[in-house]
Amino acid sequence: MKHKGLWVVGQGAAGLSAAISAKEAAQEMGQPLSVSLLDGQSEPHSGGNTRWSPSNIRLQPDFQVEPGFVASMLAQSGGRADAAYFEQLAAHAPDTASWLQGLGVTFQSPPYYLAKGPARIQPVGGGAALLQVLRQRARQLGIDFVQHFRLTGLLTDQGRVSGVEGVSTQMVQGQGQTSSLRADAVVLACGGFQGNAHMLAKHLGQAAAGFRLISPGTGHNDGAGIRAALAAGALPSGDWQGAHAEPVDARSQQSAPVVLVYPFGLVLNTLGQRFFDEGAALMHETWEALSHELQTRCPQGRAYAIADAALLDIPDYQRAIRSEVPPIQADSLTELAEAIGVPTPALLATVQGFNAACSGDVQRFDASRTDGLACQPEGQPPKSNWARPLVRAPFLAWPLQGALVYTFGGLQTDVQARVLGPQGPIAGLYAAGEITGHFYGVAPNSVAMLRALVFGRIAGRTAFEDGVSG
Ligand SMILES: Cc1cc2nc3c(=O)[nH]c(=O)nc-3n(C[C@H](O)[C@H](O)[C@H](O)COP(=O)(O)OP(=O)(O)OC[C@H]3O[C@@H](n4cnc5c(N)ncnc54)[C@H](O)[C@@H]3O)c2cc1C
Repeated sequence: MKHKGLWVVGQGAAGLSAAISAKEAAQEMGQPLSVSLLDGQSEPHSGGNTRWSPSNIRLQPDFQVEPGFVASMLAQSGGRADAAYFEQLAAHAPDTASWLQGLGVTFQSPPYYLAKGPARIQPVGGGAALLQVLRQRARQLGIDFVQHFRLTGLLTDQGRVSGVEGVSTQMVQGQGQTSSLRADAVVLACGGFQGNAHMLAKHLGQAAAGFRLISPGTGHNDGAGIRAALAAGALPSGDWQGAHAEPVDARSQQSAPVVLVYPFGLVLNTLGQRFFDEGAALMHETWEALSHELQTRCPQGRAYAIADAALLDIPDYQRAIRSEVPPIQADSLTELAEAIGVPTPALLATVQGFNAACSGDVQRFDASRTDGLACQPEGQPPKSNWARPLVRAPFLAWPLQGALVYTFGGLQTDVQARVLGPQGPIAGLYAAGEITGHFYGVAPNSVAMLRALVFGRIAGRTAFEDGVSG
């Protein structure tokens, strides 16, 4: 077959890593390899979620994986996750971080919001800086960038993937024009299906179709890569009813204006009622469930995080608020209810009932860990940690809305990032990043970016090596 090279679809962390590692592997072997990197967006708008992501990465400052990482991934998924996938992730995570550092990425170790979380490193400048470094490396290696090509399908030839089909999204000319590009192999790295309202409604339910998307790049991931691979015989993986979402300030239109102080106060729906245990666990263990509740169960998809002046005494509490809009403030709970438009008697009854149940020693309050300061108000959900009465003005409120980050349902891949069908790997097809499923139940904290980078690199190298040996 005439050599057509490798086509990588998606210019986020996974796609760039794949393209670069394929080219680096070819260089190591002294072999030529043509690598093209496609994206449905223009260059400044490419990069999907990566561009907007702070990119916290679940590694210790010395790039080592925390002890018990794989066991914790399995436990979090309720035993459904593929142990081999996470073992491979753990095995290659340190050298992936070193590789990035070698390319010029500088890492810092950001403090966790307010409550303790897993050890993490973060590229200085976040995902945008990562993209810049990776794009620069890709250009240096002679990788061809193709913009405005939205994948719609895969070409197959006797069971082997032999290219991609797509449509031009260029606004000026040729918009809507379809084309087919033949390839020796294809790496799919074009994200989840959070940008596809039809797929959201089908898999997560009708209410999820109206989810706010957390950043401007989030909706570019239209699920086309997933659908194309399934049509070519790929097996599904991951939790198709699951998605990562975070609570944001409903007034802000900025990217990811998260409000994560809710564990230290109460969350009331627009009827003035509590509807979940705000202190059930650390915030990164409850934010997803809260966001889904907000979107699918709360009237108008809204609720209010409310707090009293005690919040302002928590050192660095602002770290947990990324909204540029100041909170609504009031001198009394009655005024607060009026300011946010929640029925005053209902709000007062909820807060008074909660306050009456707060019998623990407030000196034990500790925002940096689950402090066990619990209460069980009558007729309300419990609050398992950080339960202090709301008594001191000013009283504060932030309107909350759930915002979707990425979906969990995707493609089944093996540890070499080959896409699997019922009979084993589909020849010529690889995938990495959000598109690959593998997550179940709750998003593992600070693992999405890591797996995009690690399996992106593996996908590129494997595609090259399979092509060489084939
Ligand atoms: C606000 C925010 C905060 C986050 N915080 C963290 C964090 O701290 N830690 C962490 O681990 N993860 C975090 N994530 C998630 C993480 O950033 C993503 O999971 C990761 O960037 C996904 O990388 P990817 O390469 O798989 O996909 P993306 O980066 O989304 O790239 C996909 C690319 O494919 C292109 N594309 C999509 N559909 C098509 C198509 N049909 N044809 C052609 N091109 C297409 C898109 O334009 C895009 O360029 C966050 C995400 C966001 C948005």
